[in-house]
Amino acid sequence: MKKIFTLFLLLSSVAAMAQKPRPDAFPPVPDTLSPKAVEMATTLEEMDAWNRYPTYEVYLAMMQRFVDTFPTLCHIDTIGTSVQGRLILSLAITGSSDNDLYRPEFLYSSTMHGDEVTGFYLMLRLCDTLLRSYGTSPDITNLLDRTRISINPLSNPDGTYRGGNHTVARAMRYNANYVDLNRNYPDPFGTDPLDPLQPENEAMIDYVSQHNFRLSANLHGGSEVMNYPWDSFTSLQQLNEHHEWWKQVCKRFVDTCRLVDSQRFRDVNSNGYIVGGDWYVISNGRQDYFNYYHNMRELTMELSTSKTLSTTRLNHYWQCQSHALINYIKEVHNLDDPSTEGICTPVPQATAGIIAYPNPTQGPITIEGVRGSYHYDLSDRPAGVYILNVEGRPVKVVKH
Ligand SMILES: [Zn+2]
Repeated sequence: MKKIFTLFLLLSSVAAMAQKPRPDAFPPVPDTLSPKAVEMATTLEEMDAWNRYPTYEVYLAMMQRFVDTFPTLCHIDTIGTSVQGRLILSLAITGSSDNDLYRPEFLYSSTMHGDEVTGFYLMLRLCDTLLRSYGTSPDITNLLDRTRISINPLSNPDGTYRGGNHTVARAMRYNANYVDLNRNYPDPFGTDPLDPLQPENEAMIDYVSQHNFRLSANLHGGSEVMNYPWDSFTSLQQLNEHHEWWKQVCKRFVDTCRLVDSQRFRDVNSNGYIVGGDWYVISNGRQDYFNYYHNMRELTMELSTSKTLSTTRLNHYWQCQSHALINYIKEVHNLDDPSTEGICTPVPQATAGIIAYPNPTQGPITIEGVRGSYHYDLSDRPAGVYILNVEGRPVKVVKH
């Protein structure tokens, strides 16, 4: 018995040396940060130095203050509510110029793992910077006048405020049903999630379905690496059709951060970017779901080695990453991918046993499921790709 145990320990330590565990792995890798390193802002004024995390009430007040201060530039979208009834919000930002140029839509979404709060802070500060710089920075003015930007700072508020609305020091990865939200999306490649679709994710799917986001990022912590599609496959098994484009985008992000701090984005590999599946294959993650079903490009940004970054480090991380975060939004205008010219994007297979017609449609659509027929009408919806929930399965339809 003892020998077997020793052998197990030995094998475990060899495996640990071979590859640092992915912080998104299950079971979760615990964060060893002392709660003492987390200072909370209990008033709006206490957030002014950007060296604290907001209480839930201060977070809501900050979002409202953005709208009150810059009513022509932004409004709040309520994506939905969490299991415990907290709000899942997005700040929708675009320039007030009356040009009628086509403005592609971009999405940032952070902290679906409630204890990975660096991105929560960075997104609030990004909102503040974009709004304050409009009209004074030609670069940001131009960006806002050409782009519709949605920023969802906190997609799992129950996890972040598990210890109560006044602190993030007892945050947890899961939502209030103890479900890992990044293992709970319908899987385009065939694995059913262990748990029913959670309200936080259902709301996010609805929100994305009502928009036409072309590019997004899903912000996490626990490591520093740009994790791009696919998560479900290694690059040897199935390369993403935009692989070369992703590599260039990730390299630009990492290089920009390293201009400020050359030690950042080095704990997984020296590049600072990796195909998700080459790091650690997962199923039912958000990234692959949105890339596969929503005609949008999303990657997973792991932005800080500590999940709950000490508040004394917050300003430094903003200095390192703010330019890269702004530049990543600009990539929505840079989606041309020379490496895929002439190559057809693979069309997802119809969900087994479910037939939708006509597809594409001008509006009306009939779906023959296993248990019956269903009729939908998308006439009032803008053109785009939609995911219909039929008998608990996602069905992709295209509205012309
Ligand atoms: Zn995470």
